[in-house]
Amino acid sequence: MRRKIFLVIAVLTAAITMTAAGPADLKDLRPGFNLFSSQQDIEVGREAAAQVAREQPIVHNSELNDYLASLVQRLARSPHAGTEFPFSVQAISDKNINAFALPGGTLFVYTGLISLADNEGQLAGVLAHEMSHIRLRHGTNQASKANLFQLPLMLAGGLAGNGLLGQLTQLGIGLGTGSVLLKMSRTAESQADYNGAQIMAEAGYNPIEMAQLFEKLEAQQGQARSAQFLSDHPNPGNRIQAVQEEIQQMPRRSYTADTRQFARIKDVVTHLPAPAQLHGQYNDGHTAPAAPDARPSRQSKQYQGRAFTFDYPDNWQAFGDPQSAMVTIAPSDGIVRDRNGNLSIGYGAIVSYYFQQSDEVQLRRDTDTLRIDTDDLVRQMLQANPGMSAAEQRGLKVNGYSALVTTLNARSPFQGETEIDQLVTVLRPEGLWYLVFISPQSESRDIQPILEQMLRSVRFSR
Ligand SMILES: [Zn+2]
Repeated sequence: MRRKIFLVIAVLTAAITMTAAGPADLKDLRPGFNLFSSQQDIEVGREAAAQVAREQPIVHNSELNDYLASLVQRLARSPHAGTEFPFSVQAISDKNINAFALPGGTLFVYTGLISLADNEGQLAGVLAHEMSHIRLRHGTNQASKANLFQLPLMLAGGLAGNGLLGQLTQLGIGLGTGSVLLKMSRTAESQADYNGAQIMAEAGYNPIEMAQLFEKLEAQQGQARSAQFLSDHPNPGNRIQAVQEEIQQMPRRSYTADTRQFARIKDVVTHLPAPAQLHGQYNDGHTAPAAPDARPSRQSKQYQGRAFTFDYPDNWQAFGDPQSAMVTIAPSDGIVRDRNGNLSIGYGAIVSYYFQQSDEVQLRRDTDTLRIDTDDLVRQMLQANPGMSAAEQRGLKVNGYSALVTTLNARSPFQGETEIDQLVTVLRPEGLWYLVFISPQSESRDIQPILEQMLRSVRFSR
């Protein structure tokens, strides 16, 4: 199954709605579904930051570096910056108007953006917005949703490779143009504005400055210098109004005005030497190997995870830390790599949990949560995988619980094959438990009893 880089654009409608005013109504946003651990966010971010430093002209000016570091430290003390990620910031010498956040805590700000800001609050606003993408883990959330099949295997460290980012690049999750780690959905934008406004207010800046900087950027729409930022951070609409409404709900505060230091920093930026520019490129290839002999044996062995156990064919291999909540089970011939090194699972099973953002769950009053959550997961899969289609859905029981089996058709990485994916879902306290059984269509009838045997063996631990 080939997975290409893909942009998840506002699959879920904007989660932030506001009604009556008052501090009690302020929300504390939390990260959404994610297959990465927080530690893996940090690991990917570190590798990516090193790559950025190799490819981009990083500013080495102690006055500018110290100023940016103190600004980020001040913002990081806000409770809404969280304590999970160690924040750091570097400036890139580039007249384009841009800033971006890598998973796990590293911020980059272009000197062009510093020049554009009217005051320190506006610059702080962009940084607070980017820090919110980090805290809410939007990059790896999007990468998780777009790569539900390969990531569990990769994140389990099942394949030897050259660092996590190197492996992710094989899935198309690199740092190139349109990277799923950097190009945000409108929902992620609303959330970063909302959380960023809280960070700003708690650090003593008027949150409206953040919205005003974005308006300033929008006013330049069509100009190449701000195109990358506006593409990576699409306007969720009514930014100023949304922040104004949020401020109404905050306790009254007096905010810092501009600082004299900021004027000095703008002067420093103006007189930096002009650098040469370098840009990375990501390539994707299309080749498929012949179908391997990966057919599952009828003998089984047990996978013992933290929250569930089940039996799987004894000639298949489990890739996953039993302490984590996800595992990929596959024959080594079932995992194929094309000439560009892109990984696909053509034969195997993936087990993990999926959940929706808490805001959306709260809005729901329906009883048929299993079907709604399953449909949401299926929607994510269809979005992430061009050429995939949902064929049918039926009910069954797994370990006594109601379950759904959704059958999907997809492109197979095996030559001349179509692929059948059978998605089994069960509601559990940890989220929507899912098992995806992947096989070439020509094999799917023969292996049906093996899937059924696997499902009969599933035991949830509580
Ligand atoms: Zn953003």
